[in-house]
Amino acid sequence: MRALYIGRFQPYHLGHHAVIKQIASEAEEVIICIGSAQRSHELDNPFTAGERYMMISKSLREEGILNFYIVPVLDVNWNAVWVSHVESLIPPVEIVYTNNPLIERLFKERGYEVRTPMLFNRSEYSGNEIRRRMLNNEDWECLVPRAVVTVIKEIDGMSRLRELTRRDE
Ligand code: NAP
Repeated sequence: MRALYIGRFQPYHLGHHAVIKQIASEAEEVIICIGSAQRSHELDNPFTAGERYMMISKSLREEGILNFYIVPVLDVNWNAVWVSHVESLIPPVEIVYTNNPLIERLFKERGYEVRTPMLFNRSEYSGNEIRRRMLNNEDWECLVPRAVVTVIKEIDGMSRLRELTRRDE
């Protein structure tokens, strides 16, 4: 069985990681779509698709998980054709995992089985909370896999976020 998991991963955190590890242990292959691939250098979307790709790939490989493919997906401003757009970029999948109600609806209408994974420690494992902590110099490293800390330091992601705040002010 091939499964699909879609998220924005801004950044990839331990909540996403726990869910994908679980799916990877049940499915033969997991296709991980990086949504809003065109967005980066914004306060809510600081990281590029390539940076998010590195975060996910390194985190999973570090734990010996190899049965995944990562596919960046650009947004299309047209929900009715978005599933076809995703289908045109990925291998065929049987099950879609998502916590996003719009994605659930769109894939169900196309006849897919959609499952909602359990969210782990939602109050802390949240992209929003991690970006807030980065901006306030609070401990965010404990909320992401070790490989994500390495990637964010390598690309100097903290100072990028701070510059973005200055620009918004
Ligand atoms: P998502 O990743 O499916 O997540 C929905 C919510 O659940 C987010 O608040 C997310 O928080 C949270 N979450 C997901 N997995 C979690 C986990 N394991 N543990 C804790 N919290 C978790 O939704 P999304 O971020 O909106 O990504 C969906 C992508 O699909 C977007 O890029 C969207 O643009 C795209 N899309 C595009 C179209 C179109 O182009 N027409 C239509 C539909 C969807 P976090 O912030 O912590 O991840």
